[in-house]
Amino acid sequence: MPRSTDTAAERLLGLACEGVRGLRPYQPGKPLEELEREYGIRNAVKLASNENPLGPGERALAAARDALREFHRYPDGNGFSLKQALARHHGVAMDQLVLGNGSNDVLEFVARVLLTPQHEAIFSQHAFAVYPIVTQAVGARAVVTPARDWGYDLEAIAAAVNERTRVIFVANPNNPTGTWLPAGELEAFARELPQHVVLVVDEAYHEYVAAPGYASALAWCGECANVVVTRTFSKAHGLAGLRIGYAVAHAQLADLLNRVRQPFNVNSVALAAAEASLEDSDYLARAVILNRQGMAQLTTGLRDLGLSYIPSVGNFISFELPGDAGEVYEQLLRRGVILRPVANYQMPRHLRVSIGTAEENQRFLAALAEVLA
Ligand SMILES: *Cc1c(COP(=O)(O)O)cnc(C)c1O
Repeated sequence: MPRSTDTAAERLLGLACEGVRGLRPYQPGKPLEELEREYGIRNAVKLASNENPLGPGERALAAARDALREFHRYPDGNGFSLKQALARHHGVAMDQLVLGNGSNDVLEFVARVLLTPQHEAIFSQHAFAVYPIVTQAVGARAVVTPARDWGYDLEAIAAAVNERTRVIFVANPNNPTGTWLPAGELEAFARELPQHVVLVVDEAYHEYVAAPGYASALAWCGECANVVVTRTFSKAHGLAGLRIGYAVAHAQLADLLNRVRQPFNVNSVALAAAEASLEDSDYLARAVILNRQGMAQLTTGLRDLGLSYIPSVGNFISFELPGDAGEVYEQLLRRGVILRPVANYQMPRHLRVSIGTAEENQRFLAALAEVLA
């Protein structure tokens, strides 16, 4: 195919849906292989995507290996076995569950089912980047409310609700700020919402949160028909590369979300690994302890460097730099440490670091000290 000329590019752009024309693709953390290829660096450390530094759990790995033997077959399109385990685990009915190729997949179902160019979705400033993408992709209007102390201002969100609002996205805790909402406040907020608005509570980091006053929306959403709770196996469960997450919702809403799902959106290896991982409490406990220790190590290290950070209950922390965060990001890359720039979250002075192993955290702190010296 010839290299597209400017006029061809312009014409093709004009063919796209209006929302898509203005979209910027999600910027993932830089892969290790890419850094090693581009910079000729060995043994780089990636603390950019909030992955589990423990590596895969043994039980998930064993289940995944077994599932590989059957990969000539399509997966169970209904994910019966995993749904049965999830239903038992959460004390919900199987028809309240929606499986996704990562929980991002489920967020997209929400947008496709509920949003049109006539509708609006509300989310906060500094909220997870997938919310604007799924909203804009279906041509709906994104309404962004100002943050308060880096966290969500539920009053501002409530004030932004109107008759065109269909969806409110709330990440609890939020990425990349690590801020969270007390259970009572979020529940009271949900109960006040008009019936034509669906609240999505994205609990990707649920397993890590130890803050008193935090509770999962699963504790109360049974009484609110318009609440969708999403969870993922990508973070504490250590299955990011397999891509699997899910939603719990009212059975009618779950049915609607399942209507737009591709028949085999979740692969067989992911289904098996997720089911094994669900009850692997040893692995989860180790992940949570390592995270708590690493968070203490990083916050102490950052304070020693005279840097301030946003207190986080997740497996990552965003810290503020005195100067250009982009330049520090680059300098860290050259030293083999990959963080996540968050300028696209309107946080140009911050960088986000995922909590790694003690050794990885130390590599990062030493490199940062060097860069700031
Ligand atoms: C990581 C993350 C997810 C999970 O994405 P997956 O598609 O399940 O890997 C969802 N929401 C937030 C806020 C996240 O940070």
